[in-house]
Amino acid sequence: MSHLRGTRARRTQTRAGSSRGRQPSEHDMTEATVIGLGEMGSALAAALLRAGHRVTVWNRTAAKAQPLVQQGAVLAPSAEAAIGASAVVIVCVSNYGATRDILLAGNTAAALRGRTLVQLSTGTPQEARDTQAWAQVQRAAYLDGAILAWPSQIGGAETTILVSGAEAVFRLNSALLRDLAGNLTYMGEAVGQSSTLFSAVLSYMAGRWIGLCHGALICQAEGASVASFGATLASLAPILGAESKHLGEVIESGNYGHPESTLKTAGEDVERLVQQAKEAGISTEVPAFAAALFRRAIDAGHGAEEHAALIKILRP
Ligand code: NAP
Repeated sequence: MSHLRGTRARRTQTRAGSSRGRQPSEHDMTEATVIGLGEMGSALAAALLRAGHRVTVWNRTAAKAQPLVQQGAVLAPSAEAAIGASAVVIVCVSNYGATRDILLAGNTAAALRGRTLVQLSTGTPQEARDTQAWAQVQRAAYLDGAILAWPSQIGGAETTILVSGAEAVFRLNSALLRDLAGNLTYMGEAVGQSSTLFSAVLSYMAGRWIGLCHGALICQAEGASVASFGATLASLAPILGAESKHLGEVIESGNYGHPESTLKTAGEDVERLVQQAKEAGISTEVPAFAAALFRRAIDAGHGAEEHAALIKILRP
């Protein structure tokens, strides 16, 4: 009861605090603001609420805040008021362009002064650096994060969020951010590092998704179970993980000379996928693309090397 009373009081005070000419005082404020209540932003706000934090939320489409308000969040009437309500402002919208649309409207940017902006929308390393520079002009501290999880995993002990930016700012906010992701990982002061690793992981995932769909075409054309195919991939996950680690080390060391399976062997196997696709009457688009890359690498003299020597023909 006293908690409910406190929440209502805070809500009223926060709204009042957002009115022109008055900053909210210490006792008005919530611990964190979440701007953007799509699938991911809602999951972030819900995890903070579950962990017992007082949370202010704002979303362009206000109706999406209702489930969170029922869980105890304070809905701010504007982005400016939401920023004013907490020392830590987490933004999770579609991209950095959407972030700019929100933060550059009206007096919103000015409200960031003295706050910590945590950008969890997905972007490029350059966008992270540009946003850090912009935040500095606003006299706001800045952390740039990348979420390596689905919304349902937010708040989990093994969930990974990468964060980069000033170490002192990270340390100040790490306890709060760890309530979003038990495996919160600090990537260092270079602010683009989180989105660099996110982009690299996404590149890998894109290849997996495309490969999985072509594999499913093969199964369907040959009357095999696609669900069994998915299960087989799951059982191979530890081996594929070990291979990814190995190939990362190969590329980092530049030592491609001791393969267990050569690029030529793999390239010929991939070329056979084109043949299989033609025989089965399915699309050759995916295997033809992959086979052409392997062919170029073999023709360039890398046939006896590790599969990862493909990178040599992808470099400018
Ligand atoms: P979503 O469900 O599509 O939500 C998009 C959010 O962005 C909504 O709150 C939307 O507001 C807001 N938005 C978009 N354009 C806007 C604009 N111009 N002005 C104001 N608000 C705008 O997307 P999501 O899944 O939550 O993803 C959010 C971020 O998390 C993305 O950067 C995504 O890459 C990242 N992420 C997502 C996942 C995932 O599994 N979902 C995983 C890792 C990272 P409205 O509600 O008003 O439209």
